Amino acid sequence: MPKAQETVLEIDLKSLEHNYRFLRSQLKPETKFLSVVKAFAYGNDADQIALKLQELGTDYFAVAYVKEGVALRKAGITKPILVLHPQAVNFETLIAYQLEPSIYSFGVLKQFISVLEQKESAPYPVHIKFNTGLNRLGFGEKDLKSLLELLENQDTLEIVSLFSHLAATEDPKEEVFTRNQIALFEKISTEVSNQLKIQPIRHILNTSGILNYTESQYYMVRSGIGLYGYGNDPKFDTKLKPIASLKTIVSQIHKLDPYESVGYNRAFISSKPRVTATLPIGHADGIGRQYGKGKTLVLVNGQMAPIIGNVCMDMIMVDITNIPCKEGDEVILFGPQLSAHEVAKTAGTISYELITGISQRVKRVYSY
Ligand SMILES: *Cc1c(COP(=O)(O)O)cnc(C)c1O
Repeated sequence: MPKAQETVLEIDLKSLEHNYRFLRSQLKPETKFLSVVKAFAYGNDADQIALKLQELGTDYFAVAYVKEGVALRKAGITKPILVLHPQAVNFETLIAYQLEPSIYSFGVLKQFISVLEQKESAPYPVHIKFNTGLNRLGFGEKDLKSLLELLENQDTLEIVSLFSHLAATEDPKEEVFTRNQIALFEKISTEVSNQLKIQPIRHILNTSGILNYTESQYYMVRSGIGLYGYGNDPKFDTKLKPIASLKTIVSQIHKLDPYESVGYNRAFISSKPRVTATLPIGHADGIGRQYGKGKTLVLVNGQMAPIIGNVCMDMIMVDITNIPCKEGDEVILFGPQLSAHEVAKTAGTISYELITGISQRVKRVYSY
């Protein structure tokens, strides 16, 4: 990669391939791999990432919303795409683009069946979502009787999979809770399969689930964050490679006298003389105000420089008092040298939020 000359998100598709192969190597060869590419593939760029994963042989994709699935189809994705959180208003579009809905409530189930009944087409592939403790989306154990009645008495749906989502796979303190979720899923999914006399794919593991509860992989797993290089656990940091580097440059350097202030609301004032660098990246690019006021560090010529004062919409200022650097030098906000996980922690959040928040204004560049 040439040095950055403006703010860019550099995406290394070789690292994506490495992560995909590493995660696959943890699984049985016959286990299907679903790549989660919602939210622009966690802020990277859904098209390029999904095309690469399709080439690598992923079996399935998942997005959160119909719109994201449509974009993937337009980009040339032909593998099946599960839509995790479809809304009834988009069912026609979902069908037109052959996207497969997660059926997570009686409302969604009934509305989807009624749309299909007007079409008189072959049974439509769907995925039934169960709530085993996350209490976010899905049918609960108490819904089973009514659900089975509805499913038995229709011929518009082909139930491709039964799935659930775990709440705390990255947290060893929640192992008992996680194992209970898995046991409940085993019970519910077995009952559904037996009652309906079908053998759908079952899946429950996300990335940390693959790493910590490999034995519960069933016949498919769903991975997002791991593909992008983060395993929610330092012991996997050497195995996974962050695929994205957020880089910018020094636009201008200022020498400050004691008690001069920096930025809006004069949030930074020092009693000592300081040297600051202004960088062309701000909260409109995804570096929110929570990263300001000295909490977060960026990498300038190999040295850590704190973001000082308030983060502006289009700029941040960093303290480079003891760092040799000049205008135009490259600055790294996160990447393989500076983990997005650690950077996010300085602002009280997680890698997922930091990386998915990098806005569409930031140019994406690729290395292959
Ligand atoms: C986002 C999501 C995933 C991916 O989780 P990771 O921790 O990123 O691997 C898997 N399943 C569901 C239902 C999700 O919403």
